[in-house]
Amino acid sequence: MVSRVIPVEAFDLVIFGATGDLARRKILPGLYRRFCDGQMPQDACIIGAARTEQDSAAWIAQTVEAIESYLPASKRDANTMAAFCERLRYVAVDAMGDAGWAALAQMMRPDVVQAFYFSVAPSLFGALAERLHHFNIARQDARIVVEKPFGRDRETARALNATLAAHFNETQIYRIDHYLGKETVQNLMAVRFGNTLFEPLWNAQYVDHVQITVAEEVGVGGRGAYYDKSGAMRDMVQNHLMQLLCLTAMEPPARFEPDAVRDEKLKVIRALEPVAQKQIVRGQYQAGSNPSYLADVENPGSRTESFIAMKLMIANWRWNGTPFYLRTGKRMKARKSEIVIHFKTPPHSIFDADAGRMANVLSIRLQPDEGIDLRVTIKEPGPGGMRLIDVPLDMSFAEALGPEAADVPDAYERLIMDVIRGNQTLFMRGDEVEAAWAWTDPIIAAWEAQGARPLPYAAGSTGPEEAAIMMHQDGRRWQDI
Ligand code: NAP
Repeated sequence: MVSRVIPVEAFDLVIFGATGDLARRKILPGLYRRFCDGQMPQDACIIGAARTEQDSAAWIAQTVEAIESYLPASKRDANTMAAFCERLRYVAVDAMGDAGWAALAQMMRPDVVQAFYFSVAPSLFGALAERLHHFNIARQDARIVVEKPFGRDRETARALNATLAAHFNETQIYRIDHYLGKETVQNLMAVRFGNTLFEPLWNAQYVDHVQITVAEEVGVGGRGAYYDKSGAMRDMVQNHLMQLLCLTAMEPPARFEPDAVRDEKLKVIRALEPVAQKQIVRGQYQAGSNPSYLADVENPGSRTESFIAMKLMIANWRWNGTPFYLRTGKRMKARKSEIVIHFKTPPHSIFDADAGRMANVLSIRLQPDEGIDLRVTIKEPGPGGMRLIDVPLDMSFAEALGPEAADVPDAYERLIMDVIRGNQTLFMRGDEVEAAWAWTDPIIAAWEAQGARPLPYAAGSTGPEEAAIMMHQDGRRWQDI
C-alpha cells in the first residue's frame, strides 16, 4: 500500500529552543522524515533559534548528529540529509533580551506560511510572544506552537492564555499534546465515526466500562526536579489521559473540523463528576534494580505521585453509569498505552452455563505497536460441544496494510505539518485546557491540604495493590500491562 503524501505550502518555521532535547530528539528528526517523504517543499526554511552563539554551520552539524542518533540508518541517507541541511539556518536569540531579534526579522520572508515553535521552558512562552510582537516579526496570520506544560493550574493556564491572547488570536495558537498526533488516536475517530458497527453501541447501554492506561517502564530519569513539582496528575492525567478520555467519550462532532471536535471534547470535561478521594489511588515507586522515586528526585520527603489510578463518571445521557478508569505510572511492568472499551455481556445466554459467557473488548493500542484489536466470541473448535472462547480480530497496521503502513509518522511530524496546513483539529483550545485544570485543581488541592503520602509500589509492577482492589470492588479487573 502506498500512502499519499500531500506536500504543504512553502514556510518559514522558527524553532525556539533549537539546541534543546525536544528539538534534537523529536522536532528535527521529524522534519527530516517529512522532507524525505516529499512533504516539505523545496523552498521551506527551518530557522533554529536559541541563546548559544554559533553560526548556522555549527548548528547544522549538531542537527545532523541528532538526526543520526535518533533515526535508524535505514531511514536516512547522505543525499537527502545534504538537501535537508540546505533548508536550515540558525540565529542566536535571547527570549528575555533584545539580542538577535533584528537578525531573525531579516531572515523571515513575507510571502510564505510563518510558524514559531516555542520549544523552550514554559516560563519563556510569554516573553517570546511579546517579543515576536514587539520586534514586528509575527504577521497577523503567523502560527505559534506552544509546548506542554500549559500552566500548572487553572489560574496559571488562564494567565498564559491571556498573555498569548494579547498578541495572537486563538486561530493562531497551536497548543500541542503529542498524544493527539498518534496514528491510533486518529484511528479511534475513524473506527467510531467511519463504521456503522460501533457508534450505535458506544454508550452506557452497551459499554460496561472503559479503561485508559498509559504505563511507562522508565522512571523520572533526568527530569526529577521538574517532575517532582508536577507529578502524574499534572504531567499525564490533566493533558494526555484527559484528551484520550475526551476523544473516546465525546458526541459525534458535526464535522471533523477544529472547533466542532474541540466543542465536543470540552463538553466531556464539563460533564465530569467531581471525583471522591476513595476513587483515586496515588502511588510512588520503590527501589527495584533502579533507585526509588525519592532517590531519583533527590527529595526524601517528596509526596509527589508517580502513579495514579482513578475512576471517573461522566454525567450525561450517553455515559450515565459507565465508569471510565484511568491509570498511568512510571517504572511499571512494561511500556503500554491503550484505550480499552469493555462491552457488556449479552443480556441472555442461550448456551449451557458451562459454555462460558464473554464480552466483546475493543482495544486501541497507542504504544508500543499501534493497532486495534477486537475480541469476539466464537465456538471453541473441536468435538467438545458448545464451548465459547474469545479470539482477537487483530488489526495491527503492519500486518494488515503492509510494511509501509507500519512506518507511520511520529506524532510530532504529523502535528508540525498540521500547523503548516493551518489545521487546529488535533491541538487543544484555550478553554479546553482551562476546563481540564478546573477539574484537576480541587483534587490536587485536597491532597495538598491532607499532606497525603502516595502509596508505595514495587518498581516493575502494575502499581499499588489498592488500584487492583478498587477495580475488584467494582467486580472488574485491569487489563494486563
Ligand atoms: P531543554 O533541553 O532544556 O532546551 C531548552 C532550549 O531553550 C535550549 O535550546 C536552550 O538553548 C533554549 N533557551 C533557554 N533559554 C533561552 C532564552 N532565554 N532564549 C532563547 N532560547 C533559550 O528543554 P526541552 O526538553 O527541549 O523542552 C523544551 C520544551 O518542550 C519545554 O517546554 C518542555 O516542557 C517541553 N517538552 C519537552 C519534552 C522532552 O521530551 N524534552 C517533552 C514534552 C514537552 P540555549 O541555552 O542555547 O539558549
